[in-house]
Amino acid sequence: MDREKYQELVSTFFEWNQPAISQIFAELLSAVAAEESSTPSSFMSQNYETARANPEIHVLPGNLKDARDAVFPYFWGTDSWNNPLHLENVRGPANQASLIGAMACMLKNPNLCTDRYSQRSNELEVKAITTLANLIFYHIDDPWGVFTIGGTISNLYGAKIGLERVLPGAMRSGIMGNKVVGICSKAGHYSNQTVAGWLGIGTSNLIEIPTDENLAMRLDLLESKLDELYRDQVKVAYVCATFGTTDGFGIDDIESMRYVLETKSKEFGVPMPQLHADAAVGWALSMLTDYDTQKNSLRMENPLLDIIKRVQTKNRGLRFADSVTIDFHKMGRGHYPSSAFIVNRREDLKFLSRTVSDTPYFSDADASRDPALFTLECSRPGIGPYCVIASLNGIGLTGWQMLLARSLELAQRLKDKLSSIEHCKVLNAGTCGASVNWWVLPKGRNAEDIYQRLVRNELTPEQLARYLPEVRQLFDKRTKMMDPALDARLGFTTSFGYCPHGIDIPAWKAVFFNPKTDESIVDRIALSIAEL
Ligand SMILES: *Cc1c(COP(=O)(O)O)cnc(C)c1O
Repeated sequence: MDREKYQELVSTFFEWNQPAISQIFAELLSAVAAEESSTPSSFMSQNYETARANPEIHVLPGNLKDARDAVFPYFWGTDSWNNPLHLENVRGPANQASLIGAMACMLKNPNLCTDRYSQRSNELEVKAITTLANLIFYHIDDPWGVFTIGGTISNLYGAKIGLERVLPGAMRSGIMGNKVVGICSKAGHYSNQTVAGWLGIGTSNLIEIPTDENLAMRLDLLESKLDELYRDQVKVAYVCATFGTTDGFGIDDIESMRYVLETKSKEFGVPMPQLHADAAVGWALSMLTDYDTQKNSLRMENPLLDIIKRVQTKNRGLRFADSVTIDFHKMGRGHYPSSAFIVNRREDLKFLSRTVSDTPYFSDADASRDPALFTLECSRPGIGPYCVIASLNGIGLTGWQMLLARSLELAQRLKDKLSSIEHCKVLNAGTCGASVNWWVLPKGRNAEDIYQRLVRNELTPEQLARYLPEVRQLFDKRTKMMDPALDARLGFTTSFGYCPHGIDIPAWKAVFFNPKTDESIVDRIALSIAEL
């Protein structure tokens, strides 16, 4: 082989060429900064037509700029959601402390499978997990957990522990014709379906308990369902509580759910199901647990303080979960993927563990420490721990409290504004969170009255078929008429989670995750609706 060419190749792609790397990084930074002056939308139209017809690989070795040029159109064509008009969903701009963490991680590229491949990065994972666990469970003795590639996978871990609880040895022998179910609420995330399907339980064996109007699982229905299942000798592997539903921020009463599960499993002499809390969205509220509302050092106004007090009461529920899912890449404004699965008691991880002989190429793995012996994944990125620790310590608990309180404040402002419009109805008025779900009906309709009649099941099928599509039609009308430079981009859901009499209720949606969104943007939403 031509050694000179080979050396050149190695030097270009495997040495720390600081000036070349910094220059390209500076160019990319300027490109993202340029987003500030444009409206939030697609920066470039997509070209799927030939994406498959024209796969690409250069023939001759190039340089780092070739790498830059190869991705740049896609980079430029992707919106970072930094613009304060983005309110569509549980996604906001990632914070810059997280960026520093993520970059540091990429430079070393640790693999968190075992200590040997990650050294101090695994130690950082333990630190990040313990810090998050202390926030969530409020200072417990023996938490542990791992970062996964998303909330779906974190939920899968919780469900899998439950499956092993009720069917010991399922990891080896499978479900073997046993009738096993999982339970979540009707407002739970669709990842519950994914999990039941992929675990072999089956999506049709996922039981979705209806919620009350505040999107919390109905405890009376949970109780009667458990009676029915246990009487039929069905194994209930897990109950997945939701702490912050994705659309409306509903929060299940985890403490009472624990009581129901304990009572019923004792009554029927069966193992207690895993009580997992899907706090993918809502976990961040636990940053407010310790805020001293008496001293009120951040000088929050009274209505906001009242919301924070309610949040603090809700946060207590998390302590009653066996395990929890945290997506730092949602309300933590961290980079993807930064999802953590945390157990309250480390010994529960035994349900997931395999032996060193099951994982032959980790023959030197240490069962007391190396996650590869119980994780679903083999190679695991270090992004999560780096983003979490960098963000928590860059921003600081007080900084987080400001960010979260601001989200709550803006969501409440929008709820208040919309409530005063007759043809609007705020659907999640009773939840305390960062999102707002509401109806807009044509002017002249009394939205509150129509909603109350729906809840009482007094609307005829014809009325339902007339009113519900209007919510979508008006949403589409606003989208067509809006000024993309001034009007916020809103989301839409076909069912916000509360389904009285089995009716799916569509809703407009706004989520306040963007720290730069302000009152004028909120007020303009209300104004644009009043003018529709
Ligand atoms: C987003 C979300 C999930 C799924 O998390 P991913 O990180 O997107 O896989 C699960 N549960 C809830 C409540 C969510 O909002």
